[in-house]
Amino acid sequence: MTSAPHEYPEAAPGAERLDHFMARAAAAYYAAYDPFQDFATSPEISQAFGECLGLWAAVTWQAMGRPNPVMLVECGPGRGSLMADALRAIAEMMPDFRAALRVHLVETSPRLRGTQAAKLGDAVAAWHADMASLPEVPMILLANEFLDALPIRQFIRRADGWRERHVLGGAFVELPSDIALPKDAPEGAIQEVNEAAQHFAAWFGARLKRHGGAGLLIDYGPAESGFGDSLQAMRAGQPVDPLVAPGAVDITAHVDFAAFAAAARAAGAVAHGPLPQGVFLQRLGFMTRAAMLARLDPARAQAQLAAAHRLTAPEAMGRLFKVLALCDSSLPIPAGFETA
Ligand code: SAH
Repeated sequence: MTSAPHEYPEAAPGAERLDHFMARAAAAYYAAYDPFQDFATSPEISQAFGECLGLWAAVTWQAMGRPNPVMLVECGPGRGSLMADALRAIAEMMPDFRAALRVHLVETSPRLRGTQAAKLGDAVAAWHADMASLPEVPMILLANEFLDALPIRQFIRRADGWRERHVLGGAFVELPSDIALPKDAPEGAIQEVNEAAQHFAAWFGARLKRHGGAGLLIDYGPAESGFGDSLQAMRAGQPVDPLVAPGAVDITAHVDFAAFAAAARAAGAVAHGPLPQGVFLQRLGFMTRAAMLARLDPARAQAQLAAAHRLTAPEAMGRLFKVLALCDSSLPIPAGFETA
């Protein structure tokens, strides 16, 4: 039984808070499906993406004073392509860093852990179900399309105040909100709250303050916080209703970078950006690398250049995707963020 939103029920037996629904749906999806049939991520589109991030990590390691050992952490590594490309570039350009680093992967899906093990083999020191078990040493963290998979709560402004969206029978029901939200919101406004991302930002900020290091968070979302519904689901490259087939579709939400950066700053980290992905990659020499790959393999030259365009062009992934850097306060401005 589904209550229409205008009924404003005070209770709805069996209704599940949206973040609980989303966490369950995402875990079931990543456990059972190959997400890359439903959407293409940057590391799967061009090897130059992971190579550039590997070199960013190498330059950052130098700025950190070349700690040994150092952890290279990736959250949500998917097929392991980003890490494989990064490690190859690091080994070639900065073997000292390759020798000092220990790869730690944060991944919940047993199936994707298997894919990562097959690709990365002995290069992986350990897998973790969450950040809490990572060793207490300096770290450099990379995460591409990880934060968008974390579950959000959604609140909607009605005439009598804020209500929280729950899911019942494939539709929303709105129940009274138990958290404080902005008073001056227009009726119908939707406020999203990503508690898992806030928790991650606070943990990471505190970790950077305690042991030093830096990280890059790459995802899609606006630079400034605002009202709006960004919950979405994809199947075979097509948008679908996020509530109807939980666990069978890729369910994500936009990342609120301003809220994330604020939580990390409050815990003691310094935030830079977010920068549009296209700007960041071009500053790191991504286009030069893509042109080199095209020259090395003439049969795939067109595909290499098309991939580079897709990742950097504002009308493709270059603007909606953003790059946020977090650093401990002793570090200089990280590569690519000089004039951000
Ligand atoms: N970074 C990869 C994959 C993105 S898909 C790429 O760019 O191609 C999201 C990844 O995050 C998957 O590996 C998924 O299993 C993982 N993931 C999702 N929620 C997670 C969570 N709560 N904790 C750890 N990993 C998670």
